[in-house]
Amino acid sequence: MTEPAQIHTTVAIVGAGLSGLTAATELHRRGVDVVILEAADRVGGRAFSATSIFGSRLDLGGQWVGHGHDRLTRLAADCNATVFPMRTGRIPVIVDGPRTVSAASGSVLTAAAALTIVGTLARLGMPERWNSSSVAGWIRRVPGRRARRLLEVIAAVASTADTDRLSVHALTPMISHEGGLTGMLSSSGGAQESLVLEGVGTLTDTLAEELGSRVHTGCRVTAISQTADSATLRTHALTVVADRVVVAVPPPVVASIDMDPALPPTRIALQHNTYMGSVYKAIAVYSRPFWHARSGAEFMMLGHPGAAVYDTTAPEGPGHLCLLVAGPEARELDELTTEQRQGALLGALAAHLGPEVTAPSDWHEKSWHLDEFVGGGYLALPHIGTTEGFLPMPSDPVGRLHWAGTETAREHAGYLEGAIESGHRVAGEVLSTL
Ligand SMILES: Cc1cc2nc3c(=O)[nH]c(=O)nc-3n(C[C@H](O)[C@H](O)[C@H](O)COP(=O)(O)OP(=O)(O)OC[C@H]3O[C@@H](n4cnc5c(N)ncnc54)[C@H](O)[C@@H]3O)c2cc1C
Repeated sequence: MTEPAQIHTTVAIVGAGLSGLTAATELHRRGVDVVILEAADRVGGRAFSATSIFGSRLDLGGQWVGHGHDRLTRLAADCNATVFPMRTGRIPVIVDGPRTVSAASGSVLTAAAALTIVGTLARLGMPERWNSSSVAGWIRRVPGRRARRLLEVIAAVASTADTDRLSVHALTPMISHEGGLTGMLSSSGGAQESLVLEGVGTLTDTLAEELGSRVHTGCRVTAISQTADSATLRTHALTVVADRVVVAVPPPVVASIDMDPALPPTRIALQHNTYMGSVYKAIAVYSRPFWHARSGAEFMMLGHPGAAVYDTTAPEGPGHLCLLVAGPEARELDELTTEQRQGALLGALAAHLGPEVTAPSDWHEKSWHLDEFVGGGYLALPHIGTTEGFLPMPSDPVGRLHWAGTETAREHAGYLEGAIESGHRVAGEVLSTL
């Protein structure tokens, strides 16, 4: 058996998602020697773009530029990419099977009141005892079947959690980090404000191009050992010896890397007490956005599977409908064939957008919880009853190891913006040690 090739570098970075690429680029621009190791055969991690049969770009992972996500806006400008506002109504249309549920109906008002209470508690700071109350349990106490179903779909799509595995206490920092529930669920002025015409994957590809041969894909780091002088990272094909290591991988995914010496108990608890969310995303592509002549196409669908639907069509572009299913209902879709998933999701829209919606010209989909290396999305979540995984997750260095990743961001944790913030923060932290 041949020995893996050995590389010496100043900083080794684990994970070529947006956070790892940001850290690597910043260090490289400051003249620091970097190597970035990525398990998958592509860069981008939770950012992943594809091209439709019409040549339009679409995002199967992170896509929206939220209100105030200035670092992401700057990165798009630096990459000569175009950011355009999402076409959106004031609030999504809520549909239950073929029926449209009025925004003034009792069920919607009840759900809104329940959300307002949680939003207020989030702003005021929530007592610890809410940490053992599950979001599912809280929803069960809300009167009315349809109000409960609406809350279930909103909570799943907003968090990607199984609502019985997420505490009300954990949901609240996720809400307050994004400017409250209105900010989290709104398009205009909220977390879904704009889109990148060329796809967010173009931004990560551009960063990787600048780094050139310093990026090694297909290199899963299986072990990291530290001595007084250096750290050594092992992959099947490469051994990298570095002064400093940036781990830009979410905590539950870090758990599969052997660490010598073992991590401190608090970091091990963080890894054990967090899990990646479950989310399925599809983009249906049509030669033209035929619905524009009649209506918008932003829906909260209460049938089974519950889904959020957005019109992500670019100006002058072919029609793009984005469908998101999260939590256990996303995993249930794994049992179906592509045709069955497409039939279930688009069939439910036919009553609202017309039969044309069931025959897209192109269809792209991804179940993130099945991604071998990313492990799930949108983000790592704390197990109910534990507190280690609350946002932002800790990033105190451990010897030569430094931590990045959107979960560690002080601003917009869980978002693309947070990934960039954490990349800048960790680059500064590493620079100060060199
Ligand atoms: C479906 C979906 C929709 C989303 N929508 C939005 C949105 O609209 N707006 C928004 O702002 N955010 C969104 N997000 C979240 C956003 O995509 C993430 O916050 C961001 O991409 C995280 O970047 P990261 O670098 O922190 O982590 P990651 O992108 O997860 O990067 C970690 C990288 O490490 C690699 N890796 C793992 N283990 C190893 C190992 N042992 N060795 C080497 N490499 C390893 C992984 O393959 C991955 O490439 C969404 C996410 C998903 C999944």
